[in-house]
Amino acid sequence: MAKIGLWSDYHNFPSLPLMKLSAYHKQKGDTVEMLNHLVHYDLVYCSKTFSFTPDAETNGIIQADEIIRGGTGYCISIVDGKEVFNKSKDVELPKEIEHIYPDYSLYPNYNYAVGFLTRGCPRGCGFCIVGCKEGLCSRQVADLSEFWREQKEIKLLDPNLLACQEHEKILQQLINSEARIDFTQGLDIRLTTPDNIALLNKIKTQRLHFAWDNPKQDLTDYFKRFSESSKIKSCDKKIVYVLTNYNSSIDEDLYRIYTLRDLGYNPYVMIYQKERADRPHRDLQRWVNCRLIFRSVNKFEDYDRKKG
Ligand code: SF4
Repeated sequence: MAKIGLWSDYHNFPSLPLMKLSAYHKQKGDTVEMLNHLVHYDLVYCSKTFSFTPDAETNGIIQADEIIRGGTGYCISIVDGKEVFNKSKDVELPKEIEHIYPDYSLYPNYNYAVGFLTRGCPRGCGFCIVGCKEGLCSRQVADLSEFWREQKEIKLLDPNLLACQEHEKILQQLINSEARIDFTQGLDIRLTTPDNIALLNKIKTQRLHFAWDNPKQDLTDYFKRFSESSKIKSCDKKIVYVLTNYNSSIDEDLYRIYTLRDLGYNPYVMIYQKERADRPHRDLQRWVNCRLIFRSVNKFEDYDRKKG
């Protein structure tokens, strides 16, 4: 019986790989716990989602016979100022662990199910690692029953569910679950159709997320059509991520922000490589993302950062 330690840099969300590893080792009769730097382990798994977060050793030396590291955070390097995903460093879970029912008891503070029904995305956006990591085709990789057992809420991590050929069948499964669904990575507004909007209307969800990342692509008509057909009317429940500081001018950022607001969506500014962003981008983000300010100051040029 081995003693297994688990560590993740993801603190506000349960780590899916760790929950799967935990289930696998518990099935074998091993003891599993979150890493304690004072304890010696036979094996420690470190899972890193972000490249900019500190590693597990920051809080002390890991005492273990073996350490296995995996996750996107270990595979990203900066080349010419851009994040590049190094596929050769990526460690995939073996099939029998990838498809195991996650050990949710590892995170007793969370009571939802979490997982991927699809992986991959055909878009290949330059700032996103999904295409390189998971492939340029969205395909179904699991059934809901693989990670859901009647929990009241399901958080989906799919990068572009609507790009999957079977997405209508999947949406129907989600309707049938009667669980509240959170599409945490958002939905691709360009792939919404009258048919899938009708299905989305039947899904229990608190809010929907979309993105308008490319300023050279005018998505106004897509957002307009969705607004007209969706049961969700409140702008607080229709959030749209607006990527800035990546191939766009402030004027192009403002066009997307104003258009979305006029169409009844809540824009939410994301800054590419925030640590390198200049003051105007940071101001823009603060103005938009602080809802109180955004509602009371109509135009960005009227926003006085010092007064907030
Ligand atoms: S559409 Fe989304 S998931 Fe797909 S490549 Fe672009 S950012 Fe990534």
